[in-house]
Amino acid sequence: MANRFEQLAAPGIRRLSPYVPGKPPEQLERELGIRDSIKLASNENPLGPGPLARAALTGAIAGVGLYPDGSGHELRTRLAAMHGVSPGQVTLGNGSNDILVLLAETFLTPEREAVYSQYAFAVYPIAVQAAGAGACVAKAHGPDHRMPLGHDPAALLAQVGPKTRLMFIANPNNPTGTWLDEHELDVLLRAMPPEVIVVLDEAYHEYSVGAGVPDGTHWLGRHPNLVVVRTFSKAYGLAGLRVGYALSDPDVADLLNRVRQPFNVSVPGLAAAAAALDDRAHLEATIALNRDGLARLREGLSALGLRVAPSAANFVLVDLGRSAAAVNDALQRQGVIVRPLANYGLPNHLRITTGTAAQNERLLAAMAKALAAPA
Ligand SMILES: *Cc1c(COP(=O)(O)O)cnc(C)c1O
Repeated sequence: MANRFEQLAAPGIRRLSPYVPGKPPEQLERELGIRDSIKLASNENPLGPGPLARAALTGAIAGVGLYPDGSGHELRTRLAAMHGVSPGQVTLGNGSNDILVLLAETFLTPEREAVYSQYAFAVYPIAVQAAGAGACVAKAHGPDHRMPLGHDPAALLAQVGPKTRLMFIANPNNPTGTWLDEHELDVLLRAMPPEVIVVLDEAYHEYSVGAGVPDGTHWLGRHPNLVVVRTFSKAYGLAGLRVGYALSDPDVADLLNRVRQPFNVSVPGLAAAAAALDDRAHLEATIALNRDGLARLREGLSALGLRVAPSAANFVLVDLGRSAAAVNDALQRQGVIVRPLANYGLPNHLRITTGTAAQNERLLAAMAKALAAPA
């Protein structure tokens, strides 16, 4: 139905479609009248927050009558020490999504352009369009490349022109799970003009570093136009709190800070994120669970005859070789929520997050049944 106020909206907003999130279990249960559903759709940590973050959250309740520290001093200081940068290089966000939007607001106008890859994280096109800027989409690698549907650095570079001010790179990428290696990124960064801000989104860094995916923060000293984005939503298990951050040149951070909402990270968010950094044991348990989960999902889904792309994250991209809609419906009827990717232009694919060992087995059993049903 036509929106009566459409013409009043800013041009970028008129053509915008909202982000499609994973279906909440409560919604599926309401719709189908079922119980005990599991959600492997939004790349959340199946263990949730660790004990130290939980304790910090409880302790933070008493403080929520006051505004948070708008500078996020303690968390920024902690992050700066951890990454070997100055606190002035750290910008906090209400999730890393907030950081991505701040970057677009800061550097894009209708006269400028941003570059990202086909099949890149869906927030990039939304942030770019909302800013009214031009989007230059680089063709991704083909399905038979060693990084199927992954970012092609040469294609990204070829999209850079005189109007380009931002390039978004997700490493590893969501929803493909693929990544650029040290050499590819190094070559790309060296080739980028200094007036293009390169946003290296490392939302899955804690998972991917063990798989040999480079740590982008190492390039910050050499490339002042580089912004590395991290989050507490994935491996740290704090998706519901909304805390992310950027590491950048202090002058870039200064610009982001001009548009940042003064209290964009909440009192519980600041407290739990700082505590989560101390919880090595929880992070290690999370990484180990994911390593086992990736191996099990790969093995089990391959045994069902499905193509599973390499992944350095906490999910796998599965090619069903036919429309995923009926299989997705059949999974939902069995109380298993995964992510269909038609909105990414991948109607034959599903993205499946690793769960607990029991959740992974349930997914595999449900998938076997779903595939046996007529398409
Ligand atoms: C999940 C995700 C994020 C956003 O997470 P926040 O919860 O907003 O921190 C950013 N980038 C990528 C590639 C993601 O998959």
